[in-house]
Amino acid sequence: ATPTALLVGTGRGAQLGILIKGPEVLENTRRVDTVVLDKTGTVTTGRMTLLAVRTAEGVSEEEALRLAGAVEHASEHPIAAAVAAAAAERLGALPAVEGFENVPGLGVQGVVDGHAVVAGREALLAAWSQHLPAALAEAKRAAEAAGRTAVAVGWDGEARAVLEVADAVKPTSAEAIAELRALGLRPVLLTGDNRLVAQAVAAEVGIPAEDVIAEVLPQDKVAVVQRLQGEGKVVAMVGDGVNDAAALARADLGLAMGTGTDAAIEAADLTLVRGDLRSAADAIRLSRRTLGTIK
Ligand code: ADP
Ligand code: MG
Repeated sequence: ATPTALLVGTGRGAQLGILIKGPEVLENTRRVDTVVLDKTGTVTTGRMTLLAVRTAEGVSEEEALRLAGAVEHASEHPIAAAVAAAAAERLGALPAVEGFENVPGLGVQGVVDGHAVVAGREALLAAWSQHLPAALAEAKRAAEAAGRTAVAVGWDGEARAVLEVADAVKPTSAEAIAELRALGLRPVLLTGDNRLVAQAVAAEVGIPAEDVIAEVLPQDKVAVVQRLQGEGKVVAMVGDGVNDAAALARADLGLAMGTGTDAAIEAADLTLVRGDLRSAADAIRLSRRTLGTIK
């Protein structure tokens, strides 16, 4: 492609809400055949709300919410923000947390009012030998099958509550995924979230269960991109989180949501300014058109 054509393409991209790091990026865009989509904040809004609190026998919702809210208050994760906000709204000021620790892709832990509290994935609680009682385990499965993320909460050595949080699929995501498919690309959903939750979201946007890769730890997202590349795929990755930065950099084409973190935007080749997944399809079309006309 001539430099002039690439510059014109870059300018056209800006009009479409696509910021392109350099003209050469358009070349990579054209060859892409697989589009890996982060779930939270990319396909969904990333703005979570707390929908339900389930507790073990003898445990009040207030107690569960106070302890979980206090620990989550120290975290910046979207799930944490939802839990802390709901707790503060219902209970007022929350107690302080000591020895707070964020365990990426798994959850949080800390000491609140003398109780050692852990909140997050079941695997994190299991590491403390805490296991949900049968009724809570069942509530968790039902919530996940409905597309809600279940946060298990344990304190004083036992798993005692499940908090159900959810965000919504962005109104344009299903259309964007249909557009990507129409361009001959294969969309794949990638998330650290539970498999059932991921499959429920995937079903809502038209991605089959076999193209869902779930329960992937933040540091392993890049390995998923590498594995697909090892199979001969030319991979675009769309993401928004700090978690996604390494995978965005490793992908043949990295696309960051403009609504996402600075880390993601810096690692990516393209920024979708409006945070609208349809811009990913626009970018592919633009590069094919830009390069197609001038070969
Ligand atoms: P995603 O890939 O969907 O952006 P993350 O890798 O950030 O998700 O987190 C994966 C999973 O780890 C979440 O779905 C949640 O179950 C759990 N998790 C992570 N951080 C927290 C937290 N602060 N509180 C509760 N659960 C958490
Ligand atoms: Mg995300």
